[in-house]
Amino acid sequence: MPKEIMIPPMSGAGFIVKRGQTIKVIDVEGQQIGDFVCFNLHNPRERLSTGETVIFNTLTNVSSKMSTLGGSIYLTAGNHFYSNLQNSMLEIIEDRAHGVHDLLYAPCSSAFYMKAFGEPGHKNCRDNLTAAVTPFGLSYIDIPDPINLFQNTRPRLDGTIDHRPGVTKPGDFISLKASMDCIVAVSSCAFDKELDGARINRCSPLKIQFLGD
Ligand SMILES: [Zn+2]
Repeated sequence: MPKEIMIPPMSGAGFIVKRGQTIKVIDVEGQQIGDFVCFNLHNPRERLSTGETVIFNTLTNVSSKMSTLGGSIYLTAGNHFYSNLQNSMLEIIEDRAHGVHDLLYAPCSSAFYMKAFGEPGHKNCRDNLTAAVTPFGLSYIDIPDPINLFQNTRPRLDGTIDHRPGVTKPGDFISLKASMDCIVAVSSCAFDKELDGARINRCSPLKIQFLGD
């Protein structure tokens, strides 16, 4: 049996993924957003950058003639998560969400729920990610903007954002192979409100599965 970590609804987990190791992030019940951040284990100031991820995947796509210059925010198999030092941190090996992930949004936070809904103390991804990285000597201010796995939010041509329920079905996953030794933190998003007339997040568990040794 591969090693597994269950992430209960509205909570997070932090763990190490060694270079060459592959993990699956599994959406157990479907339509669950997973906020994902990572750090270089040996120099945690090097960490995920969504902006570098967009620009460097553009170069990958151009070289393989899959796209033209201008970039894409639709990440899928063959793309990489890049660091703020322009290094590949993880490569997407398989993506059952077929590119439906979000690179625009910060993690939901206590401040966000207070400002948007007047709710103090709401469970939130920023606190979950902070708790997950605290054992590694990192803190709230270290959390970079995440890649929001399975989050179905897309910019419209006029710049507004279209929020839709996720496309993942129970058991769908993304598998990621580490290009460097990483500290990874994942939050099972706690967003429990309607947007554009529908719930966009189930508030359900995620599962991390470690493949190989
Ligand atoms: Zn969240």
